[in-house]
Amino acid sequence: MGIEAAIHAEGFLTTQLQHIINWARRSSLWPMPFATACCGIELMATASSRYDIARFGMERMGFSPRQSDLLIVAGRIAIKSMPVLQRIYMQMAEPKWVISMGACASTGGVFDTYAVVQGCDQFIPVDVYVPGCPPRPEQLFEGIMAIQRHIDAEGMPPKGPDGKRVPLGIALQPTHAPKPQPVPLTVG
Ligand code: SF4
Repeated sequence: MGIEAAIHAEGFLTTQLQHIINWARRSSLWPMPFATACCGIELMATASSRYDIARFGMERMGFSPRQSDLLIVAGRIAIKSMPVLQRIYMQMAEPKWVISMGACASTGGVFDTYAVVQGCDQFIPVDVYVPGCPPRPEQLFEGIMAIQRHIDAEGMPPKGPDGKRVPLGIALQPTHAPKPQPVPLTVG
């Protein structure tokens, strides 16, 4: 990590306590997955050996709101399940952050019906919107790193003059660049 080299050369290391706290906080975000549909499968893929969310210190998906500080909403939210999501958000430990993963969680996606919430940000503060249907694991990581960068810089989530939580409202831009498809196989 580079720390060993610095300590070896100088024999000591100085920093600010706030930097250490921010570093520890952003290196151990514990996700609370709220996966209701296909985006949840991509969320599960982030824990696989190929993508390895453990690199971020985030492999502990505990389904335990009081021990979690990063809510990942993955999938469409039915009107009936919204109170459950709100309760989970309220039960989570402070400071806490929220990622809305995929088109359905952010906007209702193609499900423009009376039964589906047209964006979970109508009911809970969303910090990062990850686009896609579904987003790839790499894109979810980009969202996670956006929150990590915020914690590095600011430490705590912003609050308004009334003391209420102000969402970061970061919307990731899709970065996928289509490439030419492989040459079709021919039977000779
Ligand atoms: S955004 Fe697409 S992949 Fe994700 S839950 Fe909706 S329909 Fe499924």
